[in-house]
Amino acid sequence: TPFVAFDRVSLAYDDSGNAIEEISLAIDEGEFVAFVGPSGCGKSTFMKLCTGLNAPSAGSVRVDGEPVSGPLKICGMAFQSSNLLPWRTTLDNVLLPLEIVKPYRSQFRRRRAEFEGWARELLSTVGLAGYEDQYPWQLSGGMQQRASICRALIHRPRLLMLDEPFAALDAFTREELWCVLRDLWEAQRFTVVLVTHDLREAAFLADTVYVMSRRPGRILERRRIDFPRP
Ligand code: ADP
Ligand code: ADP
Repeated sequence: TPFVAFDRVSLAYDDSGNAIEEISLAIDEGEFVAFVGPSGCGKSTFMKLCTGLNAPSAGSVRVDGEPVSGPLKICGMAFQSSNLLPWRTTLDNVLLPLEIVKPYRSQFRRRRAEFEGWARELLSTVGLAGYEDQYPWQLSGGMQQRASICRALIHRPRLLMLDEPFAALDAFTREELWCVLRDLWEAQRFTVVLVTHDLREAAFLADTVYVMSRRPGRILERRRIDFPRP
Protein backbone atom coordinates (compact mmCIF):
# COMPACT_ATOMS: atom_id res chain seq x y z
CA THR A 1 0.00 0.00 0.00
CA PRO A 2 1.16 3.53 -0.71
CA PHE A 3 2.35 5.74 2.15
CA VAL A 4 0.31 8.76 1.06
CA ALA A 5 -2.89 8.09 -0.88
CA PHE A 6 -5.25 10.68 -2.32
CA ASP A 7 -8.49 9.28 -3.69
CA ARG A 8 -10.50 11.77 -5.77
CA VAL A 9 -9.80 14.58 -3.34
CA SER A 10 -11.42 17.97 -3.81
CA LEU A 11 -11.31 21.01 -1.58
CA ALA A 12 -13.36 24.19 -1.85
CA TYR A 13 -12.61 26.98 0.63
CA ASP A 14 -15.74 28.89 -0.33
CA ASP A 15 -18.30 29.04 -3.14
CA SER A 16 -15.70 30.32 -5.63
CA GLY A 17 -14.98 26.73 -6.73
CA ASN A 18 -12.48 24.02 -5.96
CA ALA A 19 -8.90 24.93 -5.00
CA ILE A 20 -8.09 21.23 -5.49
CA GLU A 21 -10.21 19.19 -7.88
CA GLU A 22 -10.43 15.41 -7.90
CA ILE A 23 -6.80 14.65 -7.24
CA SER A 24 -5.89 10.98 -6.99
CA LEU A 25 -2.32 9.94 -6.42
CA ALA A 26 -0.10 7.58 -4.47
CA ILE A 27 3.27 8.30 -2.92
CA ASP A 28 5.44 5.41 -1.77
CA GLU A 29 7.34 5.40 1.50
CA GLY A 30 10.80 6.83 0.88
CA GLU A 31 9.79 8.51 -2.37
CA PHE A 32 10.78 12.09 -3.10
CA VAL A 33 8.01 13.90 -4.96
CA ALA A 34 7.80 17.49 -6.11
CA PHE A 35 4.77 19.59 -7.02
CA VAL A 36 5.34 22.42 -9.44
CA GLY A 37 2.92 24.95 -10.81
CA PRO A 38 2.10 28.64 -10.87
CA SER A 39 1.10 30.62 -7.81
CA GLY A 40 -2.48 29.87 -6.84
CA CYS A 41 -2.66 26.42 -8.44
CA GLY A 42 -3.25 24.74 -5.10
CA LYS A 43 0.20 23.63 -3.95
CA SER A 44 -0.15 24.93 -0.39
CA THR A 45 -3.67 23.53 -0.23
CA PHE A 46 -2.32 20.13 -1.27
CA MET A 47 0.27 20.35 1.54
CA LYS A 48 -2.39 21.22 4.09
CA LEU A 49 -4.49 18.25 2.98
CA CYS A 50 -1.49 15.91 3.34
CA THR A 51 -0.73 17.13 6.84
CA GLY A 52 -4.31 17.26 8.05
CA LEU A 53 -4.41 21.04 8.46
CA ASN A 54 -7.33 21.05 6.02
CA ALA A 55 -9.96 18.37 5.57
CA PRO A 56 -11.11 17.50 2.04
CA SER A 57 -14.57 18.57 0.88
CA ALA A 58 -14.78 15.29 -1.04
CA GLY A 59 -12.65 12.19 -1.40
CA SER A 60 -10.19 10.73 1.08
CA VAL A 61 -6.62 11.33 2.20
CA ARG A 62 -4.79 8.46 3.86
CA VAL A 63 -1.28 8.46 5.28
CA ASP A 64 0.34 5.21 6.37
CA GLY A 65 -2.97 3.43 5.80
CA GLU A 66 -4.93 5.71 8.15
CA PRO A 67 -7.39 8.43 7.17
CA VAL A 68 -5.86 11.79 8.05
CA SER A 69 -7.85 13.59 10.70
CA GLY A 70 -6.29 16.57 12.43
CA PRO A 71 -2.65 17.68 12.31
CA LEU A 72 -0.33 14.83 11.43
CA LYS A 73 2.39 14.19 14.02
CA ILE A 74 4.64 12.06 11.86
CA CYS A 75 5.63 14.89 9.55
CA GLY A 76 8.26 17.59 9.70
CA MET A 77 7.81 20.87 7.87
CA ALA A 78 9.92 23.67 6.47
CA PHE A 79 8.75 26.78 4.64
CA GLN A 80 10.02 29.65 2.54
CA SER A 81 10.72 31.62 5.69
CA SER A 82 12.76 29.81 8.31
CA ASN A 83 10.64 31.19 11.18
CA LEU A 84 13.39 30.65 13.72
CA LEU A 85 12.65 32.19 17.11
CA PRO A 86 15.05 35.12 17.51
CA TRP A 87 15.46 34.65 21.26
CA ARG A 88 16.58 31.04 20.93
CA THR A 89 19.96 29.74 19.88
CA THR A 90 20.28 27.59 16.75
CA LEU A 91 20.40 24.43 18.87
CA ASP A 92 17.32 25.41 20.89
CA ASN A 93 15.45 26.31 17.70
CA VAL A 94 16.18 22.86 16.28
CA LEU A 95 14.91 21.23 19.49
CA LEU A 96 11.71 23.31 19.53
CA PRO A 97 9.30 20.75 17.95
CA LEU A 98 10.17 18.31 20.73
CA GLU A 99 8.95 20.81 23.28
CA ILE A 100 5.75 21.57 21.39
CA VAL A 101 4.48 18.38 19.77
CA LYS A 102 2.75 16.39 22.47
CA PRO A 103 3.83 12.80 21.76
CA TYR A 104 7.48 13.89 21.80
CA ARG A 105 7.40 16.09 24.90
CA SER A 106 7.76 13.39 27.55
CA GLN A 107 10.39 11.52 25.52
CA PHE A 108 12.34 14.74 25.21
CA ARG A 109 12.24 15.39 28.94
CA ARG A 110 13.55 11.92 29.65
CA ARG A 111 16.14 11.74 26.87
CA ARG A 112 17.26 15.32 26.40
CA ALA A 113 20.95 14.50 26.00
CA GLU A 114 20.23 11.99 23.27
CA PHE A 115 18.09 14.44 21.29
CA GLU A 116 20.66 17.17 21.77
CA GLY A 117 23.25 14.85 20.31
CA TRP A 118 21.01 14.18 17.31
CA ALA A 119 20.44 17.94 16.86
CA ARG A 120 24.19 18.56 16.86
CA GLU A 121 24.69 15.73 14.38
CA LEU A 122 22.04 17.15 12.05
CA LEU A 123 23.52 20.65 12.31
CA SER A 124 26.92 19.26 11.50
CA THR A 125 25.54 17.36 8.48
CA VAL A 126 24.16 20.61 7.02
CA GLY A 127 27.41 22.48 7.68
CA LEU A 128 26.39 24.32 10.85
CA ALA A 129 28.81 22.74 13.31
CA GLY A 130 30.08 25.55 15.52
CA TYR A 131 26.93 27.63 15.16
CA GLU A 132 24.85 25.80 17.78
CA ASP A 133 25.02 28.67 20.26
CA GLN A 134 24.54 31.51 17.79
CA TYR A 135 21.24 33.33 17.44
CA PRO A 136 19.29 33.40 14.14
CA TRP A 137 20.23 37.03 13.45
CA GLN A 138 23.88 35.99 13.51
CA LEU A 139 23.27 33.52 10.65
CA SER A 140 22.90 34.18 6.92
CA GLY A 141 19.59 33.41 5.17
CA GLY A 142 20.98 30.14 3.82
CA MET A 143 22.22 29.10 7.27
CA GLN A 144 18.82 29.88 8.76
CA GLN A 145 17.18 27.68 6.13
CA ARG A 146 19.63 24.87 6.94
CA ALA A 147 18.69 25.18 10.61
CA SER A 148 14.99 25.07 9.75
CA ILE A 149 15.53 21.81 7.84
CA CYS A 150 17.26 20.35 10.92
CA ARG A 151 14.31 21.50 13.03
CA ALA A 152 11.95 19.70 10.63
CA LEU A 153 13.97 16.48 11.04
CA ILE A 154 14.60 16.51 14.79
CA HIS A 155 11.77 14.11 15.68
CA ARG A 156 12.82 11.72 12.88
CA PRO A 157 9.64 12.26 10.85
CA ARG A 158 8.67 9.68 8.27
CA LEU A 159 7.27 12.46 6.09
CA LEU A 160 9.06 15.71 5.32
CA MET A 161 6.92 18.51 3.89
CA LEU A 162 8.80 21.34 2.20
CA ASP A 163 6.94 24.42 0.95
CA GLU A 164 9.29 26.54 -1.21
CA PRO A 165 12.12 26.14 1.32
CA PHE A 166 14.79 27.57 -0.99
CA ALA A 167 12.80 30.26 -2.80
CA ALA A 168 14.25 33.18 -0.87
CA LEU A 169 17.87 32.13 -1.35
CA ASP A 170 20.42 33.19 -3.95
CA ALA A 171 21.08 30.71 -6.76
CA PHE A 172 24.41 29.53 -5.37
CA THR A 173 23.12 28.87 -1.86
CA ARG A 174 19.99 27.26 -3.25
CA GLU A 175 21.93 24.69 -5.26
CA GLU A 176 24.21 24.03 -2.33
CA LEU A 177 21.15 23.25 -0.20
CA TRP A 178 19.72 20.96 -2.89
CA CYS A 179 22.76 18.77 -2.37
CA VAL A 180 22.46 18.99 1.43
CA LEU A 181 18.83 17.88 1.22
CA ARG A 182 19.57 15.02 -1.17
CA ASP A 183 22.35 13.77 1.11
CA LEU A 184 20.02 13.82 4.11
CA TRP A 185 17.33 12.02 2.15
CA GLU A 186 19.73 9.40 0.81
CA ALA A 187 20.97 8.71 4.34
CA GLN A 188 17.59 8.63 6.08
CA ARG A 189 15.04 7.76 3.39
CA PHE A 190 12.10 9.66 4.79
CA THR A 191 9.34 10.47 2.31
CA VAL A 192 9.57 13.99 0.91
CA VAL A 193 6.85 16.19 -0.55
CA LEU A 194 8.37 19.35 -2.00
CA VAL A 195 6.36 22.27 -3.34
CA THR A 196 8.23 24.62 -5.62
CA HIS A 197 7.94 27.12 -8.48
CA ASP A 198 11.28 25.95 -9.77
CA LEU A 199 11.09 23.19 -12.37
CA ARG A 200 14.85 22.76 -12.34
CA GLU A 201 14.80 22.28 -8.57
CA ALA A 202 12.01 19.69 -8.89
CA ALA A 203 13.87 17.78 -11.58
CA PHE A 204 17.14 17.88 -9.66
CA LEU A 205 15.67 16.61 -6.41
CA ALA A 206 12.60 14.49 -6.99
CA ASP A 207 11.90 10.93 -8.20
CA THR A 208 8.49 12.03 -9.40
CA VAL A 209 7.36 15.48 -10.48
CA TYR A 210 3.70 16.45 -10.52
CA VAL A 211 2.82 19.47 -12.64
CA MET A 212 -0.29 21.31 -11.49
CA SER A 213 -2.56 23.53 -13.51
CA ARG A 214 -3.74 26.92 -12.34
CA ARG A 215 -7.48 26.56 -11.81
CA PRO A 216 -9.07 24.45 -10.69
CA GLY A 217 -6.18 22.74 -8.93
CA ARG A 218 -5.61 19.65 -11.03
CA ILE A 219 -2.63 17.51 -11.86
CA LEU A 220 -1.67 18.04 -15.49
CA GLU A 221 1.15 15.61 -15.64
CA ARG A 222 3.06 13.09 -13.55
CA ARG A 223 6.60 12.45 -14.66
CA ARG A 224 9.20 10.02 -13.33
CA ILE A 225 12.66 11.55 -13.34
CA ASP A 226 14.97 8.81 -14.53
CA PHE A 227 17.65 10.69 -16.40
CA PRO A 228 21.10 10.86 -14.80
CA ARG A 229 21.65 13.72 -12.37
CA PRO A 230 24.83 15.57 -11.50
P1 ADP B 1 2.15 30.84 -2.03
O1 ADP B 1 1.79 31.17 -3.42
O2 ADP B 1 3.58 31.18 -1.68
O3 ADP B 1 1.74 29.48 -1.58
P2 ADP B 1 -0.11 32.42 -1.20
O4 ADP B 1 0.04 33.90 -1.19
O5 ADP B 1 -0.87 31.75 -2.28
O6 ADP B 1 1.36 31.84 -1.06
O7 ADP B 1 -0.77 31.94 0.17
C1 ADP B 1 -0.24 32.27 1.43
C2 ADP B 1 -1.22 31.79 2.48
O8 ADP B 1 -2.45 32.50 2.36
C3 ADP B 1 -1.55 30.31 2.35
O9 ADP B 1 -1.61 29.76 3.64
C4 ADP B 1 -2.94 30.30 1.70
O10 ADP B 1 -3.71 29.19 2.14
C5 ADP B 1 -3.54 31.59 2.18
N1 ADP B 1 -4.42 32.15 1.15
C6 ADP B 1 -4.16 32.22 -0.17
N2 ADP B 1 -5.20 32.76 -0.83
C7 ADP B 1 -6.14 33.04 0.10
C8 ADP B 1 -7.45 33.60 0.06
N3 ADP B 1 -8.03 33.96 -1.09
N4 ADP B 1 -8.12 33.75 1.23
C9 ADP B 1 -7.57 33.37 2.38
N5 ADP B 1 -6.34 32.82 2.49
C10 ADP B 1 -5.63 32.66 1.38
P1 ADP C 1 -0.36 27.86 -4.28
O1 ADP C 1 0.24 27.34 -3.00
O2 ADP C 1 -0.10 26.98 -5.45
O3 ADP C 1 0.03 29.27 -4.54
P2 ADP C 1 -2.85 27.81 -2.80
O4 ADP C 1 -3.07 26.42 -2.40
O5 ADP C 1 -2.33 28.78 -1.78
O6 ADP C 1 -1.95 27.82 -4.12
O7 ADP C 1 -4.22 28.41 -3.37
C1 ADP C 1 -5.07 27.72 -4.30
C2 ADP C 1 -6.33 28.54 -4.51
O8 ADP C 1 -7.11 28.54 -3.32
C3 ADP C 1 -6.07 30.00 -4.82
O9 ADP C 1 -7.08 30.43 -5.71
C4 ADP C 1 -6.19 30.69 -3.47
O10 ADP C 1 -6.55 32.03 -3.59
C5 ADP C 1 -7.27 29.85 -2.81
N1 ADP C 1 -7.10 29.79 -1.35
C6 ADP C 1 -6.03 29.33 -0.68
N2 ADP C 1 -6.20 29.36 0.65
C7 ADP C 1 -7.44 29.88 0.83
C8 ADP C 1 -8.21 30.16 1.98
N3 ADP C 1 -7.75 29.92 3.22
N4 ADP C 1 -9.44 30.69 1.80
C9 ADP C 1 -9.94 30.92 0.55
N5 ADP C 1 -9.25 30.67 -0.59
C10 ADP C 1 -8.02 30.15 -0.45
